[in-house]
Amino acid sequence: MTLGVADRLARAIDWRWTRWRRRRSPRGVVLCYHRIASLATDPQRLAVTPADFAAQLAWLSAHTTPLALEEFSARRAAGTLPPRATAITFDDGYADNLHAAAPALAAAALPATIFVTSGMTGVREEFWWDAVERAVLLPVVGRARWTLPAIGIDVDASGPPPAAAWCAFDPNASARTVAYRAILGALRGASPDARDRVLRQLLDDPAVPSVRASHLPLDRDELRALAHTPRITLGAHTRTHPALAQRPYEEQRAEIAHARDALTAIVGRPIVHAAYPFGTADAVDRATERAAAAEGFEAGWTTDARAAWRGDRPLHLPRLVVTGGWDLATFTARIEALFDA
Ligand SMILES: [Zn+2]
Repeated sequence: MTLGVADRLARAIDWRWTRWRRRRSPRGVVLCYHRIASLATDPQRLAVTPADFAAQLAWLSAHTTPLALEEFSARRAAGTLPPRATAITFDDGYADNLHAAAPALAAAALPATIFVTSGMTGVREEFWWDAVERAVLLPVVGRARWTLPAIGIDVDASGPPPAAAWCAFDPNASARTVAYRAILGALRGASPDARDRVLRQLLDDPAVPSVRASHLPLDRDELRALAHTPRITLGAHTRTHPALAQRPYEEQRAEIAHARDALTAIVGRPIVHAAYPFGTADAVDRATERAAAAEGFEAGWTTDARAAWRGDRPLHLPRLVVTGGWDLATFTARIEALFDA
């Protein structure tokens, strides 16, 4: 169906009106980190080094108004954000959030919210995207082929591993990186069952290195310690980290509810902030927002790289993903661009 001229005109006017209102409203930037670590390989660029993180925190303290996410959210909704408001969040729940991020945040006296994947606390396993990296990219001698019926994948995986610096923003380096991308893409929308079957198959190979201590999620004691760290709050990031919008509605609710209940039990008060896994347009839709609302959430965070303002839907709020490897000039330019947009 094509839109009529009148419809298109109405949409254009609506978009310009929204932009005009946004530019005149108090706005703020919420940052989405994942890990604070120096890693040998980091194909998703999730890790910011401790030195870069310290420099970023110093800049945020000196040049922005950092707020706890709860205060940021309340003032966003009220239209009373202070000038150059920022807030810091972390997704996934890596152990380095306690061991590296929390001390740096404490030293800078800055608050942060950690969104935790509740199905990963207490299991000594890597997150599924890390396990795929370990099985497909890291072995010195790779498999000739990966045949994974649970997700309809049958790919060539021969050839040498990519250089350590290779990342998923680069062009493919070999059949291995093509296979890595294909498997990750298929697992985003897979059922938890299918994903578990694929992971068991991928990891059941003597050529695959064992679980990396550098890649562990928070265990129960670490999560409890983080929950009791001053200025740190917890939020929900689902149970198994699927692209929610690709799963049935009831499953979306169950994923979000599991994280809420598991974290409420640890924190002892209601968890009302959620970050949707991936946070991209293929992972969050209106049904996802309805699922979060039905489970009692007041704020839902995406990775839509914009400033947040009063006109945003509370269950579809934007954040800027901080990519590992950015120098300070890039970091500040990305934030300034959102303040100025
Ligand atoms: Zn995540």
